[in-house]
Amino acid sequence: MERTLSIIKPDGVKKNITGEIIRRFETAGLRVAAIKKAHMTKAVAEGFYAVHKGKFFYDELTDFMSEGPVVLMVLEGNDAIALNRKLMGATNFKEADPGTIRADFATSIQFNVVHGSDAPDTAKFEISYFFAETEIF
Ligand code: ATP
Ligand code: MG
Repeated sequence: MERTLSIIKPDGVKKNITGEIIRRFETAGLRVAAIKKAHMTKAVAEGFYAVHKGKFFYDELTDFMSEGPVVLMVLEGNDAIALNRKLMGATNFKEADPGTIRADFATSIQFNVVHGSDAPDTAKFEISYFFAETEIF
């Protein structure tokens, strides 16, 4: 069993496809172990994406992630980190496999609907950034 952090980004929340995205996770065998809605401040978004600090897209990315509410989830399952990334599709929606969330719903490299942790250490950091252990079931 592995845990990963999933975020439905502000563009996904605005498109009103939260249920559709969760259905894809559940159908693939992932379980929602924790869930809440939040509106990040710019500072919270900067802390979350600190790994990208200094990159040309960092300021725009953190503006985007703090411009509206998101849905935060801890997903649990076998190989959850890789499975979630597979369901999301490539960062650039034009390169995402058909049937993935980003292929179906993303509108640019930036506005790509979902976030998913990319490794066990980042999953641990990202889950603890938003959830207390007592909020995860
Ligand atoms: P995420 O971390 O959001 O799950 P990812 O791991 O597929 O996405 P990263 O390289 O970590 O991709 O980039 C984080 C986010 O920054 C991307 O999801 C996207 O919203 C934005 N981003 C990445 N590369 C670019 C780019 N070249 N131009 C604009 N935005 C970008
Ligand atoms: Mg990433």
